[in-house]
Amino acid sequence: MSFAESYRDKTFVVDDADARIRRDDDLMAFVPTAGGTFQTITKGTEVKVVEVRVAEGGSKSSIVFCRATSTDGSRVLGWTSTRNLAGKFMNETIGLVQPEPGAGRFGPNAAWSNGEYLGQLELVAVVDSRLDIERLALNTIGAYAALVAAAARNGIQVTLNSGFRSYPEQKHLHEGFVRGLPGFNTAAKPGFSKHQNGIAFDLSVAGGDGNPTYEWLKRHATTFGFVRTVSREPWHWEFDEPKAQVALAAGTFKTSTVTA
Ligand SMILES: [Zn+2]
Repeated sequence: MSFAESYRDKTFVVDDADARIRRDDDLMAFVPTAGGTFQTITKGTEVKVVEVRVAEGGSKSSIVFCRATSTDGSRVLGWTSTRNLAGKFMNETIGLVQPEPGAGRFGPNAAWSNGEYLGQLELVAVVDSRLDIERLALNTIGAYAALVAAAARNGIQVTLNSGFRSYPEQKHLHEGFVRGLPGFNTAAKPGFSKHQNGIAFDLSVAGGDGNPTYEWLKRHATTFGFVRTVSREPWHWEFDEPKAQVALAAGTFKTSTVTA
């Protein structure tokens, strides 16, 4: 499979009765019909996605557009929002994000651990639980996709709230936390978050215990190399196979330092 563009291997189903087709030259505009309405792709149509573009939302969510064809690729159906597809493209990877030549320690791909700059990471853009774009380390995508797929086979949806963070992003979150600004949670000092070295995944498990996704993760995540590492953060999981193995052998899903 393509780790950087997971959608290429798949077939999607149009799941919206008003899946409007966008103009090739302006994805914010719709293609009209002669009758004064808009052209749509019929609900229930199976499609392949051959290209993806993102309209950055700024303070709002981004919109991920896809160019859809018939499943055999012979007929172009046109551009539409991936929100019109069953699953809404959640967890699909939509492209490699490589470090810029000469990028430094505060750049968007710079990895940090324990206050030290580690180097540049190859990242992948992925659609999160809010249909916005997160980044994950390329070398964790296979493990994450396997976790998501196994959960789906059990009828459980695993989705991402937060993945990799650059130094400036972590600084922003830390400053908001320190100032007690609304909407900011506990966040480590910049340079010290596990979200900066590519192994941390904040998953959508609202409420923790009793949440079906969280209960599934408790039983199965260590098998896939994921383990809980932070007390009182049931959403925060790390891809760390040695630690997950230790937890699994001990009959738990947490590292020994996690108290709650
Ligand atoms: Zn986290």
